[in-house]
Amino acid sequence: MANYGYGQRKRYKIKYKNLALLLAILLLIVILISRGCSAIFGKKDKEDKPDRDNALQSGDILPDTLPENNLPLAEPNTQAYYAFTSETKTAADLGTGDLVLVNNNIAFKGSVSESDLDVIREKKNRAYSVKDYTVLVRPEAMNALNDMLLAFYNATGKDTIMVNAGYRTLEYQQDLYADDLDSTGLDSSSLVAKPGFSEHHTGLAVDFTVYENGKYDQSKLGTGDYTWIDENAHKYGFVNRYPKGKESITMIDNEPWHFRYVGVPHATAMKEYDLCLEQYIDFLRNYTIDTEFLSVTTEDGSQYMIYYVPMAGNAENPETTTTNVYIPLKVNTETEKVPYPYEISGNNVDGWIVTFLYKEGTGVINAVPPTDDAAVTTSADDAEPESPETEAPEAE
Ligand SMILES: [Zn+2]
Repeated sequence: MANYGYGQRKRYKIKYKNLALLLAILLLIVILISRGCSAIFGKKDKEDKPDRDNALQSGDILPDTLPENNLPLAEPNTQAYYAFTSETKTAADLGTGDLVLVNNNIAFKGSVSESDLDVIREKKNRAYSVKDYTVLVRPEAMNALNDMLLAFYNATGKDTIMVNAGYRTLEYQQDLYADDLDSTGLDSSSLVAKPGFSEHHTGLAVDFTVYENGKYDQSKLGTGDYTWIDENAHKYGFVNRYPKGKESITMIDNEPWHFRYVGVPHATAMKEYDLCLEQYIDFLRNYTIDTEFLSVTTEDGSQYMIYYVPMAGNAENPETTTTNVYIPLKVNTETEKVPYPYEISGNNVDGWIVTFLYKEGTGVINAVPPTDDAAVTTSADDAEPESPETEAPEAE
């Protein structure tokens, strides 16, 4: 029994040895196969991975200057792509620039000197008319207004647009506001802004009316041929400031006659994302030097980068707090760096917006027929009313 028993055990032991050998061989095969695969796939992975990822992973420091024909190590809408210079701003600058937000709750913090403004009637082309010599705008809005209304004339054949309001003084707004309360009997107005709280104080807003056959008709704006202005104003830097559907945000009824100059890249972005100015100023807070820049391509193919710089925090004494606003530099040669063409605008609330031209376009705006100055000159002459028969209405 004992031998038998032993013999049995031995046979089992031999079998177990064979099994262990077999398993070891299998394991070796599995290891060899998996190594082979990882060598193949590993190589493929490496080939697919862009060089810049490898560079960033190996802890390389991003260079200030980027060789002309080399793939940049970062995207142009991020800080890492650029070297910077800076400008110092204080709270007193918050009300300066094309992007100031002024509404019923936010008084205009800037100041405008009438001597810095253009008299529209002196600078205008013949594609439209102006109420009188008291209608003033900022120079950047003046040029844009001429371009826009000439394009409108060329597209529609109409020279019937009249500009009947521009910059307003505090005193003038006070009179308008008092008149509106008198006529409605209410203690506040949904049409006329409170004195100090009107966009017209900025010199960046204009009101249009339609002047035809000796009569004013503001109700034609936003209808028929005049919808061209709503559809194309952004190409010239203007926005309809109080659009339909945004009344609960702007706190002003839809005004198809009131246009605000904000600059071409911003008007383009507001159109693209369907944002009124309140929403846009808030939207821009998502784009900072630490996150990414908002990239906007305008009608003429120019590419702009936009970002928000919050005012440096010192709630107790904001007037003396300074904020460094960083400006991206363009590398011209190995030693020369100059700022990209840029603008800094206060938002009139809590910071600044930097806009720089990253890539210049053709300068040509599409979808507008070529201008024909001669035709405008001969046809629009008699549209200039020297003594209007009726007073043009004025609202916000
Ligand atoms: Zn207005």
